Amino acid sequence: MKTIVLDAGHGGYDYGAVNGSQYEKDDNLKMARLVAAELERQGERVVMTRDSDVFIPLLQRSIISNDHNADMFVSFHRNAFTNPEANGVENYIQINSPPSFAQNAQNVLDEIDKVGVLHNRGVKSNNFSVLRNTRAPAMLLELGFISNARDNAEFDKNANAYAVAIAKGIMRSLGETYNPNAGGGSGGGSGRRDTAREIQRGLNETYGAGLAVDGLYGPATRRALVRAFQTELNELYGAGLVADGVFGAKTKAAARTVRRGARNNLVYILQALLFFKDYDIAVDGIFGAATETAVKAFQTSRNLAADGLAGPNTFAALFN
Ligand SMILES: [Zn+2]
Repeated sequence: MKTIVLDAGHGGYDYGAVNGSQYEKDDNLKMARLVAAELERQGERVVMTRDSDVFIPLLQRSIISNDHNADMFVSFHRNAFTNPEANGVENYIQINSPPSFAQNAQNVLDEIDKVGVLHNRGVKSNNFSVLRNTRAPAMLLELGFISNARDNAEFDKNANAYAVAIAKGIMRSLGETYNPNAGGGSGGGSGRRDTAREIQRGLNETYGAGLAVDGLYGPATRRALVRAFQTELNELYGAGLVADGVFGAKTKAAARTVRRGARNNLVYILQALLFFKDYDIAVDGIFGAATETAVKAFQTSRNLAADGLAGPNTFAALFN
């Protein structure tokens, strides 16, 4: 299993190239997500620099890759030019990269070309921040011109096939074997990772957490859960907390008791916390019997009254 960092270019207030109501940032995220799904189906580990519509500074994208010791970094973009006739696909590597980097970029481009492109513009070199500051072998793919109507039609029509092609090219470059029938039965471990990633995606989408979707429960994910908890207490109960991601005395005092039968985002956060404490429960925002059992078991493990009611003391212990 290799670690591949997928970098959807632009995001948030940085739209990238624009053609009417079509924004490059959206196309980039769409393609990065499709490639992530295919690589994960193949059993590879994927880290996304963003998985929602948020702005991530260029240097931060490389830092995410370097922090995860990535085996490969792929940045997704779409091209634009003043002449709307300009079209085609090109793949960039950093100038003065080792020859293997050019071969990686060629592998990806070859697979995309098999699906079909209007014009294969080849592998090119440039001096781009995300390539220059990333330690892993890196490429920056310009998947057609958003300023060209025919390229946009190709992008829409071939999106899924391009994603598979890109995954194949990445895997060939990493010496991994692509298996078209992969993903039939996922082991318990990968199932848990999928749930962990879903939680991170949910935190990004609902609360703009900007987490790397790596399925790992680290300090950033914990802080994002505290911030989500504070945000919900403010919205549901007007708690007036500063949503700073720090579980302090004020947050504990503002916590409300969540009990069986409840259905809201506080339940979702409770379940996510229990899940990350290794309780095997669905994280669906519905407080049913299984959630109650998990709350009681957790309370017992922390010498709290095992009443199945998630109140301030239980949340304090869960966030600890
Ligand atoms: Zn771009």
